[in-house]
Amino acid sequence: MPGFELFGPEERKEINDVMETGILMRYGFDGPRKGIWKSKELEAELCKRLDCGYAQLVSSGTAANTTALAALGIGAGDEVILPVFTFVASFESVLTVGAVPVFVDVDETLTLDPAAVRRAITPRTKCIMPVHMCGAMADMDALMAICKEHNLLLMEDACQSFGGRYKGKYLGTIGHAGTFSFDFVKIVTCAEGGAVVTNSEDVYTKLDGYSDHGHDHKGVDRGADLHPFIGYNYRISELHSAIGLAQVRKLDQFLAIQKKNYQQLKSILSTLPEVTFRTILDPEGNICTFLDWFLPTEEATRALLAELRQQGILAGNMYWYEHNWHYIRKWDHLKNATALGKLTDAQQKALLSLDKADFSASDRIMSRCISTSIGLLWTEEQTKEKGEKIVAAIRKVLSKEKAHA
Ligand SMILES: *Cc1c(COP(=O)(O)O)cnc(C)c1O
Repeated sequence: MPGFELFGPEERKEINDVMETGILMRYGFDGPRKGIWKSKELEAELCKRLDCGYAQLVSSGTAANTTALAALGIGAGDEVILPVFTFVASFESVLTVGAVPVFVDVDETLTLDPAAVRRAITPRTKCIMPVHMCGAMADMDALMAICKEHNLLLMEDACQSFGGRYKGKYLGTIGHAGTFSFDFVKIVTCAEGGAVVTNSEDVYTKLDGYSDHGHDHKGVDRGADLHPFIGYNYRISELHSAIGLAQVRKLDQFLAIQKKNYQQLKSILSTLPEVTFRTILDPEGNICTFLDWFLPTEEATRALLAELRQQGILAGNMYWYEHNWHYIRKWDHLKNATALGKLTDAQQKALLSLDKADFSASDRIMSRCISTSIGLLWTEEQTKEKGEKIVAAIRKVLSKEKAHA
């Protein structure tokens, strides 16, 4: 991770196909484009690859989340339950469609704690939005049971977990809709892009229209299209789809490398009894973009990070607890409800109440968690060296702690 580490002639070839005709738009220009439809081709590839009914490409993962929520009919006043550990895009999309984000704790899966989800349900709850963080899965069986019981929609933010699986199904294809990001740091990248997948034809028709100004795409040309509902422009371009196409075809190669490097690093860290690992509900389905692990205390974790920094080997070891994008602790703009325009009263009220909310259960987990990003270009020797250096640093920090105790 990320996929750009292995850019090659394949991406260049796909882009050149598009430049041969110069038709950079995904719709229309049927004659001049001479049969080149990279976006359509990539959508078909996604359906085949993920074994799902429909795929709609859009301009980003954030646009994918917004388009998915809109297509599921989520709007003003509806509550969407999502985790405190995610990326800001998840709540941005909820706010964009006028809905209210309801944040709940994560457990050691680093995804939604189903018990916390249950406690957060109100008569206004319309959707549960698990986020499959760092390449691995939320507890989909438990969440689907809750959705069935309370008649709720399930929208999977699988933006970080393209190619991941849960009990034989691809992440993103299990709920009513699921989203992916192909931004520059994801496992498959096209610079900027995203996709929504679904098995419902009705939802797909709405995704298709919403992401292109409400066009029904049934006219003889774009000007003749009807607009059955109000949409927006979240279109992807043919250049982005071209790169995405080359990258998706390399997914199996990426997964094989990541799994190998992940296993090697994990077995080195496993030699220390003080190191524990994230709960992975279906290890086969983990895409292994990160190795997520815990130390026994926040103090030890912070001491280790300081040690890694001092040794110049901190890079790639993510401490989400202090991260500005990924964990609620640092989202002051959200907690202060600082938007450019007016939010709805319900949104404003929910956001301003976040400051007093108790997420100590998540704090206890996230404050001890380090995620080590897995490289596609690491050699076996380099992986070994990285692992051994981390192990030595942990030993040093823990023995210092013991001496102080
Ligand atoms: C990357 C990401 C997104 C949004 O993707 P962009 O393509 O950058 O807009 C949404 N959710 C999660 C969890 C992400 O990691």
